[in-house]
Amino acid sequence: NLPRTILAGGLLIALLLSLTLRYILVARVKSAYLARSNKLNEAILSSAAYLIIATDKSGAVIVFNRAAEEQLGWKYAEVVGKASPLLWHDKKELAIRAEELSREFGMTVGKDMSALLIKPEKSGAETREWTFIRKDGTRFPVSLTVSPLRDNHGDVTGYLGVAENISERKRQQKALKASEETFRAAMHYAAIGMALVDLQGNWLRANPALCDILGYAEEDLLQTDFQSLTYPEDLDKDLENVQGLLDGRHDTYQIEKRYIHKNGDIVWAQLSVSMAKDSDNNPAYFIAQIRDITEQREMDRMKSEFISVVSHELRTPLTSIRGSLGLIEGTMAADIPEKALNLLHIAHKNSERLILLINDILDLDKMNAGKMRFDIAREQVKDLVSFGIESNVAYAEKFDVRLACDPIAEDLYVNVDAARWQQVFTNVLSNAVKFSPEGGVVKISVTPMAESIRFSVSDSGPGIPDEFAARIFTKFSQADSTNSRSKGGTGLGLNICREILSHMKGQIDFVTEEGVGTTFWFDLPAVNGNSVFDAETHKKNQHLPIVLHVEDDADLSEVIATGLAGKARVVTAGTLAIARRMIEEQEISVVVLDIGLPDGSGLSFIEYMHNRPFSLPPVLILAADEPPRHMRELVAGFMVKSRVSEDKILDKVIELIGLSTGAKGG
Ligand code: ADP
Repeated sequence: NLPRTILAGGLLIALLLSLTLRYILVARVKSAYLARSNKLNEAILSSAAYLIIATDKSGAVIVFNRAAEEQLGWKYAEVVGKASPLLWHDKKELAIRAEELSREFGMTVGKDMSALLIKPEKSGAETREWTFIRKDGTRFPVSLTVSPLRDNHGDVTGYLGVAENISERKRQQKALKASEETFRAAMHYAAIGMALVDLQGNWLRANPALCDILGYAEEDLLQTDFQSLTYPEDLDKDLENVQGLLDGRHDTYQIEKRYIHKNGDIVWAQLSVSMAKDSDNNPAYFIAQIRDITEQREMDRMKSEFISVVSHELRTPLTSIRGSLGLIEGTMAADIPEKALNLLHIAHKNSERLILLINDILDLDKMNAGKMRFDIAREQVKDLVSFGIESNVAYAEKFDVRLACDPIAEDLYVNVDAARWQQVFTNVLSNAVKFSPEGGVVKISVTPMAESIRFSVSDSGPGIPDEFAARIFTKFSQADSTNSRSKGGTGLGLNICREILSHMKGQIDFVTEEGVGTTFWFDLPAVNGNSVFDAETHKKNQHLPIVLHVEDDADLSEVIATGLAGKARVVTAGTLAIARRMIEEQEISVVVLDIGLPDGSGLSFIEYMHNRPFSLPPVLILAADEPPRHMRELVAGFMVKSRVSEDKILDKVIELIGLSTGAKGG
């Protein structure tokens, strides 16, 4: 029986062994699991963001994490097992809450921990805002969630509180509220009309000032939209601008428009609109500011009517005063003592100035009122310029200034009102004369451009100072030196010129260099059907390389332009100032350069081009004399006018075009 006993014993040992092994294994797994879960608990407890506090059933604190220590100022050892959360709660707050709960549950709720615990016990958990008081007595707001802890049988064993310090959130809420209130107040008390308008045009909000302007009570106004209160003629302009905001073509717009008052009156308003966007950057609503300018417009109208009446009334007697003075000066000078004659002369001169001023004011007035007539017709450029020069020769002689003009091609035409053209030309020309030195020359030139004709007037006067240049086209602006005051004039001329030109689709500008001179130019659209500049040719010419011919002899330019027809487009600059402008504005392939130019030496233009950040086009010097040796190295070639035939010049230019465009292509 021994083997059996041995077998049974063996089996028993094996069983015991396996049980022990299992026990060890389970214990290991359990302890690993416990360790992990302890780590997790620790991590949660040490969270810096939340105060985590747990109590037992009696309310004594059993868990008090680091954040709670830090924020409340109490140490773990001072609190755990020794105190209850009443230590940092506000007694008054608890009392108020207890009363609320007593009413809610129809029973007496104690003004102590019960106020914190009764609700969580009944409904699982409760989150509320409370005030916590630190050890040092300072306070902070928290959002506190209290939940009961239960055992396996569902009996409450304690409570868990998780609190978040919400001081920062509260501060932000307060700031937001304050800013909303400020906006509301700003809108409410603003002296000008303000409104928020939805994307369909309905008024969303309107301030009392706007209600006043339009004559509606706020609730009535909010039933309408801006379209129905806009004067019909002004609606398109407004809608077009609104569309611009929606399309992102502009961020704001400002227009003058008319609204219809509730009583039917027209209200003139200056409207500024911008658009507010939502968080996805989509259009949300419009913000409109509306200023009533009805009275201001009426005042303006009366003012200009007054000016116009006064000017008219003044002009007639003044004209006769000037006439009489002129007559006395001219015919009776011999009978008048020298001293008196001098005074007469002063009176005559000043009556002329006054008439000029009055005429200018009347012109401005007419233009502002849209009453200036423009009889636009096809006019030959050559005729216009010749007549303009003839009319100003006498004036120039008074200043001992000579007027010089390059020959003008017969076949150039512009669409203009001839009288208004003369007014602009005379203004520019007389300025050039006025500011020229005695014995100086004023140069007039005409340059056909791609789609327009450029009229240029150059002088060798003092130039226009930079600080004044920006204001020169505004009303009553004169360079504020005694020098320019002494020249007479009103400071209105150039402003009127610009207005007149804008009515004829033209523009005016100038280039100037202090101490060297000034070139004023104005462009007017060339007439379609010009033999040289018809639309077809123009289209074809668009793609041709451009040759800039800097040359004051228009005949030579014409020869070159004709010779290069179909191969290149020739633009001509009669002065260095214009040449500088052209090279900045257009992509020039080749420059053909004269040396002796009215406003300086062509060689300075080479230096100018060298100093630009762009690559230098090949330059061919075509001048009366040979250029100095050091300059020859800077240019692609030079020719002396009297020594070469036109063919040679053209061949050379074509070769340079090939070089220039070939280089670009490669
Ligand atoms: P004004 O009647 O005074 O000439 P403009 O509007 O025609 O009025 O010119 C305004 C001012 O611009 C002049 O007073 C002068 O200071 C300046 N100005 C105009 N043309 C020239 C010029 N060619 N050279 C220098 N300054 C000029």
